Amino acid sequence: MPHESRIEAGIEIIPLCDAVGPMGAAIRKPLPEMFRGASFPADAEWVLHFHCYLLLAAGRTILVDTGVGGADSPAASWAPVPGRLVAEMAAAGVKPADVDAVVITHLHSDHAGGCVAGGAPVFANARHLIQRAELDWVSRPMREQVVAPLGDRVEAVSGDVEPFPGVRLLHTPGHTPGHQCVAVGDLVLSGDVLHHPVQLDDPTITYVYDEDPAEAVRSRKAVLSRARVLATAHFAEPFTSLSS
Ligand SMILES: [Zn+2]
Repeated sequence: MPHESRIEAGIEIIPLCDAVGPMGAAIRKPLPEMFRGASFPADAEWVLHFHCYLLLAAGRTILVDTGVGGADSPAASWAPVPGRLVAEMAAAGVKPADVDAVVITHLHSDHAGGCVAGGAPVFANARHLIQRAELDWVSRPMREQVVAPLGDRVEAVSGDVEPFPGVRLLHTPGHTPGHQCVAVGDLVLSGDVLHHPVQLDDPTITYVYDEDPAEAVRSRKAVLSRARVLATAHFAEPFTSLSS
């Protein structure tokens, strides 16, 4: 059952559920540390959802994040591959070749793993917008297996930019140096600025895989103060309304 889309500032935002799975043993371990002081039992199961989003904006088709990828993805060591992104897009009537632009929130394997399949770009006609700081930082496996095959489809951006009318990219460093969110009106597609709903109540709760925890907290607070609605990557429900 597909999630319902919504329209903000004239732009349709369609959630795509790429994958769902329990956090694997390797990354489950840090849970008690992540939620120290929070009302989430350390032994509770944490089921991770992997959402991507399509934006239909004035005739343009923009994809935000590409999910975990296929069996050959760098995410295969820990995430529930293969992702079903392309099938989810088909259900929304969009083919990979229709995508004009891909925005990558950051170069972790569960967000960029679906850019490439069998060594070839999946969204062959799309520019791939990635922060310059992220490209300078990216891990070697992701550089070799994801960024390199994209070739000149990669378009580096720096800071806050508006590549399409009404679609703003916000540089939100901390989880990674070049992490970016996407703002459509006061809806923010928040990538990995948040990992779990407990961080809505206490944005100072950090995740052990935040590269710079203090900066991640600053970015999380900034996003929460500007957004009326979040479209998250990893919560169970794609959209979260924030009370003001
Ligand atoms: Zn993630």
